[in-house]
Amino acid sequence: MTDSSDAPYEPAGPYGLFIGGEEVAGEEGFRAFNPSTGGAWAELAEASEEQVDAAVRAARSAYASWRRSSLEERQRVLLAMADVIESAGDWPRLLATENGRPIREAVGADVPTAAGVLRYYAGLVRGLHGETIPVADPAGRVFTVREPLGVIAALIPWNSPLISAALKLGPALATGNTVVLKPSEFAAASVVEFARRTAGLLPPGVLNIVTGVGPRAGAALVGHPDVTKISFTGGTATARRIARAAAEHLTPAIFELGGKSALVVCPDADLDAAVHDAVTGILAQNGEVCFAASRLFLHADVREEFLERMVAAMAAVRIGDALHPATELGPLISAAHRTRVLGHVEQAVKEGAGLVAGGRPRRLDGRLSGGHYVEPALLDDAAGATTAAREEIFGPVVVAQTWQDEDEVVARANASDYGLAAGVWTRDLGRAHRLADRLDAGTVWVNTWFQVPPGQPLGGVRLSGHGREMCAETLLEYSAPKAISMHLDTERPAMWGIDG
Ligand code: NAD
Repeated sequence: MTDSSDAPYEPAGPYGLFIGGEEVAGEEGFRAFNPSTGGAWAELAEASEEQVDAAVRAARSAYASWRRSSLEERQRVLLAMADVIESAGDWPRLLATENGRPIREAVGADVPTAAGVLRYYAGLVRGLHGETIPVADPAGRVFTVREPLGVIAALIPWNSPLISAALKLGPALATGNTVVLKPSEFAAASVVEFARRTAGLLPPGVLNIVTGVGPRAGAALVGHPDVTKISFTGGTATARRIARAAAEHLTPAIFELGGKSALVVCPDADLDAAVHDAVTGILAQNGEVCFAASRLFLHADVREEFLERMVAAMAAVRIGDALHPATELGPLISAAHRTRVLGHVEQAVKEGAGLVAGGRPRRLDGRLSGGHYVEPALLDDAAGATTAAREEIFGPVVVAQTWQDEDEVVARANASDYGLAAGVWTRDLGRAHRLADRLDAGTVWVNTWFQVPPGQPLGGVRLSGHGREMCAETLLEYSAPKAISMHLDTERPAMWGIDG
């Protein structure tokens, strides 16, 4: 595919910040670029430190009444937000223009998932309640109520901005917190658009949006003394910086970070399904997804056939304009990211990996000539000795490794700094359970990849972060128990001189 008639999304005007219910201009601005063409398509606002401070103050002042809002009101808001996401037909075009995600995925995944997450939390919050604690003294009564925390600083990445925003706003608003949301500088327009379209649903200041680059707007937000909790999704290196900044005020944080997930193919796997899922695992969202199945552990008995089928599948992939409905692999987010991704492939070859497929830039013609396209890469590194087998690449690059023995594959799959997800392909029930037990990751998929219904905890171990999103436990992250401890009578034992 070299061209498409599908025009990029055209915004109504420059995007501002949302502070205290008003859209305001930034002190400076920056431009958003369409990864499919390389051309500028929107003007965004760069928040100053003073504007970030104003957003936190607006959230702090709105908290006083929002924390007392009824559950019905919060549920109504979240359900109405979900309707806004589903009813406006131009979200997919906006999302595909913004970050290069193929429009068929924006239609099939981003829109329904974001709406579904908000509806999930609208229902779930009814189940959040305190406890009654048994007390030995018959006149003692102890119970807890769950209270919101205050101002949540939510920072999200660029790869699925609408879903990431819903994963933060759903639990934070449902539990009565107010929010300052900082989208990525690479995908801020959709989040501001969301604030515009839902502006009338919330009292002013309950949801504030600050846009701008991480080291400025982001750093000002996470270092703010009035932020009660940080909820961050993004890269591990950024998380370290944020943790250091948060230490100053001892601000607690949830971290949803990167991955280097292992997909283990056993000799008895259904190869048709396994290849399909391995291709989905590394090519969905252009490979720019935390859950990418970027390490492929192939049993020696099926290795050759599996690689052959992967090569054929990758060669047949339709690369093109993210806005074209037939596109299967869109452009990477930026020219710099493409250089980084292809640099990993080059480095892996220098370190001894075989390049079985792709790994080159893909040049398209006409208005797509400035897009950041790559041919998806399949690297053969049987022992997993290269840097590409260890580091998160965040692109369509998969490293195939070979194994013979179950203990060995468990040890090698677990020998990673990350632990976001893992997967097993087998028809042997015992093996499925054994490996699911032994693989060290926040999610283990068996004969599937990317199955994440609301209610299934999302999160990782080790450098993939801590905290869980999209599940009942998440509400505990955004609320705290308050103990109410009572005594029902007035009799006291004689302990002090004043006791009669
Ligand atoms: P990133 O870490 O560069 O940026 C994430 C957010 O942090 C952005 O809003 C950015 O502006 C902000 N930021 C950057 N520097 C900052 C600083 N010094 N202080 C405060 N904020 C700062 O990540 P990215 O490139 O946008 O996204 C890719 C990463 O996100 C990958 O590592 C991916 O695995 C991860 N991710 C994880 C999940 C998950 O649920 N585990 C989901 C999606 C993406």
